[in-house]
Amino acid sequence: MEFEITGKDLFNWYQSAKRDCLNNNINISELNLFIIELTSLNKLNLQLNNYQNQESINSKFSLDKLEKIWNLRITKRCPIQYLIGECHWRNFTLKVTPDVLIPRPETELIIDLASEITFNYSYLKTGNFLDLGTGSGAIALGLAEAFPNSYIYAVDKSESALKIAQENALKYGFESRVKFCHGSWFDPINDLKNSFSLIVSNPPYIPSQMVLELEPEVVNHEPKIALDGGEDGLKDIRYLIENSPNFLVKDGFLILEIMAGQGKIVENLLKENGSYKNIKIEYDLAGLDRFAIGIATTP
Ligand code: GLN
Repeated sequence: MEFEITGKDLFNWYQSAKRDCLNNNINISELNLFIIELTSLNKLNLQLNNYQNQESINSKFSLDKLEKIWNLRITKRCPIQYLIGECHWRNFTLKVTPDVLIPRPETELIIDLASEITFNYSYLKTGNFLDLGTGSGAIALGLAEAFPNSYIYAVDKSESALKIAQENALKYGFESRVKFCHGSWFDPINDLKNSFSLIVSNPPYIPSQMVLELEPEVVNHEPKIALDGGEDGLKDIRYLIENSPNFLVKDGFLILEIMAGQGKIVENLLKENGSYKNIKIEYDLAGLDRFAIGIATTP
């Protein structure tokens, strides 16, 4: 933190920024996070207001720059995670930029689901895992941490997203256990047929029209390629269900994140495919259908 701001100046700005939050329907906890992440103040300092007389507070940016960045939250509805450049997800603090989808809390559960499944099917604890559309690398790193004996292939169509994912893997020391591959879905690992004990994906699954109606934080800032699942939202889910059996070992698992409300139809897609058994829809903590699971019966 190379800049210094006086306690008084920071306090005064904080008061006016709090008013901006109220006027613009932004939770003050976001402003607090912004200050905590970018300056040497902590949550208690903000709560107790005990820094006003401090001569200098360390900051990553000058006060002028801090104000400018925060204003993007208000005027452009830029997500706080992009402004800070980080997102907390499971045990990780991941680097995020507008090149990657901000990993969502509900997606954290995909790692718990994988862990629960392997409790009953211990052969799944080792071997090759595949994370399709890895984005920031969140799921791949979550798997690497939860399964110390696995080797993960993490694929993404976006080269700039893979760069971020790679940085995140390096930060947590997983670079030797996660291999990043550039390309669309199975293309870059096409020679690894019947090789994966687990395939996991949080694909784009929002219907195109619905994407346009999402809150400005999402539709104006997050990568559409990670959100837009075509006319009915199921384009990529269909493709993954169709092709995963070719890449799974016998009794390997497919776990897909889906949109709330897609449970029944995705369950049917898995059934109709004919190459899956033990098909199940799982729910997130809000009680919404959020994951589809199947075991490959082939080869
Ligand atoms: N869960 C994300 C959202 O609600 C969408 C992610 C996705 O399409 N896979 O914005």
